[in-house]
Amino acid sequence: MYLGDILAHFQPMTQKIKNIQVIPLVRRLNRAFQGSTYQIVSRNTLFVRVETEEGILGEAFGGDEDIYQAKVVAVANEFLAPRIIGMELLPIEELWQAMISTAPLPFHNRGIHTLDLINHAVLMQAIAIIDLGLWDTLGKALNKPVWRLLGGFRNKVPVIGIGGYHRSAGDLEGLVSEVESFLAFGLSGIKLKVGSLQITQDLKRVETLRKHFGKRLLLCCDANQAWTFDEALQFARGAKDYELEWLEEPIRWNDQLVGLRRLREETDIPIVAGQGEISSLGCRDLILNRCVDILNVDATIAGGVTEWRRAATFAQMMNVKMGHHEEPQVALHLLASVPNSTYVEVFPDPERDPMWHELPENRPPIRDGYMEASEKPGFGLAYNREIIDIYRGDVARSLP
Ligand SMILES: [Mg+2]
Repeated sequence: MYLGDILAHFQPMTQKIKNIQVIPLVRRLNRAFQGSTYQIVSRNTLFVRVETEEGILGEAFGGDEDIYQAKVVAVANEFLAPRIIGMELLPIEELWQAMISTAPLPFHNRGIHTLDLINHAVLMQAIAIIDLGLWDTLGKALNKPVWRLLGGFRNKVPVIGIGGYHRSAGDLEGLVSEVESFLAFGLSGIKLKVGSLQITQDLKRVETLRKHFGKRLLLCCDANQAWTFDEALQFARGAKDYELEWLEEPIRWNDQLVGLRRLREETDIPIVAGQGEISSLGCRDLILNRCVDILNVDATIAGGVTEWRRAATFAQMMNVKMGHHEEPQVALHLLASVPNSTYVEVFPDPERDPMWHELPENRPPIRDGYMEASEKPGFGLAYNREIIDIYRGDVARSLP
């Protein structure tokens, strides 16, 4: 039972779900961002509105789905929303169970609950965006921020920036100046992209940053599943003296359970994975197989706030810390709520994540290495309607 449910016992509340609308936003980036195993050419996201009969309007955004975005929106609006419209907001757990119910869900020729990874990912992202809207609605109904409803452990969380994309990979001076700009932005450190160069070149980049900035810089590395076990071990051994905060997704997608465990047995560098999981049960398996020191499961991919809390609770029991893959507008609240959290991560470069920079009108302040959580209800954000109108992908627009 969440604090929100407990509060409801003392403060009887009726909030009946009247309407739910999920809006796709599609925004091409001005340039491609090249990582080890991928490139990013657009920043897509979903915006959700949840209205109650009593006049509360919950709003949230999250997720970065590209090719399956239209399917996620269709599942959310056409199948999941009708299941819970008319139900009471509390308990949210009941709404969540209604959405993941295995009752027939006629999605194309196949049901969505069969053993099909794409359909599962579509379903969990659709549940996620609605669940985010429900939590914002609950916060507004109770006049509490989401981070307090979830446990309220701290009111600010250390924040790091994601950078070091391929463009600057061979340019050590450029990398140093990029990190200097991160520190000037108020961040505590960098999550450095690795895995697209020779391992010795990546190690040189790590060495350069550690020697230039000393211990004041939080230095994480993210390989995005680029390496075989042997390659990951070579990097980990080479980086052992550079005091990495973590090494994220070092091993290829098809060797997670055994490969990550073997790597953990060979290195003291904390290992992160989880952003590739779409449910708390997948996170459970990473933990039980001793694959991770830190779980970075993403609530916008894996079933929302409600599901993230399940993973976080089990992680805490097992001495595993929590991170969160990107999406700082959600991650701040989740990581502020629990004691076993690490860092919020942002893209300081507006070209990489223009939605985070422009969609909220009141981004949480970043000061002295921390992102600060406010007392505003729900996720605490007001939104720029013009950005939604310009980039919504579900209506035909005439060019200005
Ligand atoms: Mg990652």
